[in-house]
Amino acid sequence: MSLYEELVNHTQRNYSSRYDIYSRGGTLYELSKKEPLPYEEQIKEFKKQIKEADCVIVGGASGLSAAGGGDFYYDDTPSYRKYFGKYAKKYGFKGAFAGSFYQYSDPAEKWGYLATFLHTTQNAEIRKPYLDLDELLKGKEFFILTTNQDTQFVKLYPEEKVAQIQGDHRFFQCSRQCSDDTWDSVRPVNEMIEAMGENTAIPTDMIPRCPHCGAEAFPWVRGYGNFLQGKKYNEQYQKITDYIQKHKDEKILFLELGVGRMTPMFIQEPFWELTRALPQTHYISLNDQYDFVPEGIEDRAMAIKGDIATILENALKV
Ligand SMILES: [Zn+2]
Repeated sequence: MSLYEELVNHTQRNYSSRYDIYSRGGTLYELSKKEPLPYEEQIKEFKKQIKEADCVIVGGASGLSAAGGGDFYYDDTPSYRKYFGKYAKKYGFKGAFAGSFYQYSDPAEKWGYLATFLHTTQNAEIRKPYLDLDELLKGKEFFILTTNQDTQFVKLYPEEKVAQIQGDHRFFQCSRQCSDDTWDSVRPVNEMIEAMGENTAIPTDMIPRCPHCGAEAFPWVRGYGNFLQGKKYNEQYQKITDYIQKHKDEKILFLELGVGRMTPMFIQEPFWELTRALPQTHYISLNDQYDFVPEGIEDRAMAIKGDIATILENALKV
C-alpha cells in the first residue's frame, strides 16, 4: 500500500473509532490555542509562504469548488435550479447529491439524472478560484491532490500533476465491479443528454452498460458503496506518494483548501501528520468555517478563515 493511502487509512480508523467526536465537527487532535494573526497579515504570510516554499502540495476539497459557484451539490441554490430544475420540480430534491442517492423506480429516469449531473460538471468552465490559485502558483513547483470529482483541476493541468483520490466524472466503471476496467463517460453522457431533451428519462436502450458483463455502468466515484479501487485508484495514490517521497527533504507548503468536517481523513489530517513528520515543511488551510491548527505544529501552520474565493483574490493583490 502506498504511503499516502496508509495515512488516509490511519485517519479513517481514528475517525471510525471516535465518530462521536468527529460527528460533532471535532477532531482527535489537540488544537492550538494560539491566537491567529489579523486577516491582512495572514494574507501577507500566505503569499510569503508560497514564495519561500520549494514546492506546494495543494489539497483541494469541496469548499474550493463551492466557492467558485459549484454550490449545487448539497443545497437548493440558484445554480442547482439552473442545471437540475426539472428534477427539483418533479422530485423536490434539495441539491444534486439528493437526486443521485434517490431510489428511482425506473433506471432510465435514474440515468436521466446521472447524465444531467455528469454533463453539468464535465462541461462547467474552470471556476475563478481555480484560476486565481493557478495564478498564485505561477512559476512554482507544485502538485494537486483532490477529493473533488468534478474534473476542474484536470481541465487546468496534465494528469501527472493531479491525484483524484475520490474518482473522476469522466469515467464509468461496472456497477458490479466485475472487472478492473474504467472507460470514457463523456461521449455516452453527451448522447444521453441529447436524446433526453426536455424529458427526465433517457431512452431505455441507452442505459450505459458494462462491456464485460452487461450490468449497468456507474460513474467512477466514491460515495455510493461500489467505488472501484483498482488500477486507476492505485495510480492516484501512487502519484501523490511519489511526489511526497521525491520532495520530502525540501521546504514543502501543504495548502489545504475547503475541507469539510465530515471528511478530515483524505487531506486535512494526513497533511497534519506530514507537517509534523517533516520539520522543514509548512501547512496553511483556507476554510470558510473552521480554523483548525493542531498543537505541535502551530509555529509552522496557519488557518485562514474566510470565503476561499475572496482569500485567493486578496492574496493575488498583495
Ligand atoms: Zn461488469
